[in-house]
Amino acid sequence: MNTINRQATVFFNQPQLLIQHPGVSSVFLLFFSIWSLMPATAKEYLPGIEWDEPKHVTPGEGNQTAPSDAIILFDGQDKLAWNNADTWQIDNGCLVVGKGMIHTKNTFGDCQLHVEWSSPVPAEGTGQGRGNSGVFFGPYEIQVLDSFHNKTYFDGQAAAIYKQAPPLVNATKKPGEWNAYDIIWKTPRFDKDGQLTEPATVTVLHNGILVQNHFELLGDTPFNRPPRYNPHPPELPIRLQDHRNPVRFRNIWVRKIHPMNGKQTQPPSLRDGRQVTPLPQTEAK
Ligand code: MG
Repeated sequence: MNTINRQATVFFNQPQLLIQHPGVSSVFLLFFSIWSLMPATAKEYLPGIEWDEPKHVTPGEGNQTAPSDAIILFDGQDKLAWNNADTWQIDNGCLVVGKGMIHTKNTFGDCQLHVEWSSPVPAEGTGQGRGNSGVFFGPYEIQVLDSFHNKTYFDGQAAAIYKQAPPLVNATKKPGEWNAYDIIWKTPRFDKDGQLTEPATVTVLHNGILVQNHFELLGDTPFNRPPRYNPHPPELPIRLQDHRNPVRFRNIWVRKIHPMNGKQTQPPSLRDGRQVTPLPQTEAK
């Protein structure tokens, strides 16, 4: 440690010395004032990409309320966003599971989905027979189940990717209380010959708790065979499952996710004052 640093340490560890030696403390204060005003000498990295400006989106008042760019799938009023929903009843602002799966009229690829669900009261049945439904992106299910004190196979409980991945924790609320899923879905990619080029991935928050962390799906999620990918269009309907339990849904909204566009207009560079120096290609990557 050099002399100045040692003296500075002595004084700043013992503030009473600064009071007892006002001349010395003035020198230190002057020194640190000048030091703090010195211009930064670090060079600035310039990626050289011109990005489109991110659009402004007005957030909802809370997580239940859709942001301004969301597509409303159910807000308690009607079932206009859904096909096959004649037997699904609206009761007190909730959509109650009826006969057969319902699916959205609109189709979705990469998206953010908010959906709330509530298990039947009183809780009846056990295992997969208690409060079972599901949120499907095409053929891929995120399980809905009454998993509050109701054991079943772990990759079949609430917030599981059915038969592929249990949730990281069990965040299920009591029957009758409202659960929220916030799901980030990335649809799988297929080439023109129908070969898989990128698997689907999913991130799920259950009641605000991370339960699926960018999980790569192995394929679809049937009950009776291993998962596999069958080629399909980039956008498919979202579906809600009828598993013969009167699960209730509310506050369903979805946002389509579009990648940001950027053009490489300059090579990656370092700026030092007015001097801009392109980086060698190996460093630029
Ligand atoms: Mg299910």
